[in-house]
Amino acid sequence: MIDKIRADFPILQREVYGKPLIYLDNSATTQKPRVVVDAIVDEYYSVNANVHRGVHFLSQQATNLHEGARKTVQKFINAASTNEIVFTRGTTESINLLAFSFGEEFMKEGDEIIISTMEHHSNIVPWQLLAARKGIAIKVIPINDKGELLIDEYRKLFSERTKLVSVAHVSNVLGTINPVKEIIDIAHTNDVPVLIDGAQSVPHIPVDVQALDADFYAFSSHKIYGPTGIGVLYGKEKWLDAIPPYQGGGEMIQHVSFERTTFNELPFKFEAGTPDYIGTTGLAIALDYVSAIGLENIAAYEHELTRYATQRLKEIEGLRIYGEADNKSSVISFLVGDIHHFDLGTLLDRLGIAVRTGHHCAQPLMQRLGIEGTVRASLAMYNTKEEVDALVEGIKRVAKMF
Ligand code: PMP
Repeated sequence: MIDKIRADFPILQREVYGKPLIYLDNSATTQKPRVVVDAIVDEYYSVNANVHRGVHFLSQQATNLHEGARKTVQKFINAASTNEIVFTRGTTESINLLAFSFGEEFMKEGDEIIISTMEHHSNIVPWQLLAARKGIAIKVIPINDKGELLIDEYRKLFSERTKLVSVAHVSNVLGTINPVKEIIDIAHTNDVPVLIDGAQSVPHIPVDVQALDADFYAFSSHKIYGPTGIGVLYGKEKWLDAIPPYQGGGEMIQHVSFERTTFNELPFKFEAGTPDYIGTTGLAIALDYVSAIGLENIAAYEHELTRYATQRLKEIEGLRIYGEADNKSSVISFLVGDIHHFDLGTLLDRLGIAVRTGHHCAQPLMQRLGIEGTVRASLAMYNTKEEVDALVEGIKRVAKMF
């Protein structure tokens, strides 16, 4: 099975510095299977036309592909309707969209939003921009030393002024899978809606937005084997209906005059300009690819691989793992002795092993951990135990040099 999956990803056959590539930077972005790239090339070569506005054959075909992709996304996360699937450039734009539009409609000076210590900068900075514009306050859920959210502390952060909760489903540094169902239930008891940053969850665990009762859910195509530059904001229809557009332009309008403009229906109200209709096809093909393998199977395989990697890494003298939550995804952050993360990453690279080093766009979390950065190995369904062994041997080799 694993050989068949690996064969679908041409880049995994290549060498770097004359060594077989061992790609362990999947939280940053995943590699693309041939079916995804082929679908993109095919559409450019044989279907390309702008969507929604043409009466001609190609435009209709391109529109069908684009709207079919929306349906695929809807099914993938079990949204109630395609009206609730807004295409964006990615998680970052999804969160910025919501910070702007929700902030415009529902937040005023003195209001509060709750985020967490382990957020990616893209779930911090948009709220800070809103805070600067509107004078809102940002409250932060603390974590324990294993890298788990302190739910009792979270309960205490609510006040009459709390308007939104926005937290990651899975941490891109610690790998923690947060109890988002519980987080959402607690928020709803306080009559507060919740945005879930699903950038690191959708590729690794089955997500059902209705079962979670999430009000908003964001994710990126490129982290789930799809193309770059496309992503999704899911929002319950009642919320998306209630908030104003994010950007103005073509596609998002119903009628324009110099006196008064009316906006298009959902989801087009939030999709100004020509959409990335080729990107949406690529995303849909990627989701179909993942569905054919089965997210349950992927999750089980990655879980076992992560267990194996954690156990093997712990054999290394002086290696410390950051993020040891009971419920963890396939992300392992670590440091070894006093070797700088950048040096370790650079030397591993020379062995053909691609890992991420640095603060991983989570500087407030680094501050909480009392470090500047880590080395991060993030595993995907095409990684193998042999690759994990090579990582362990590589780290041992580098550690000997210091
Ligand atoms: N949130 C999390 C948890 C992430 O890991 C990332 C990507 N590293 C993002 C948000 C931002 O995603 P994108 O850059 O695709 O917009």
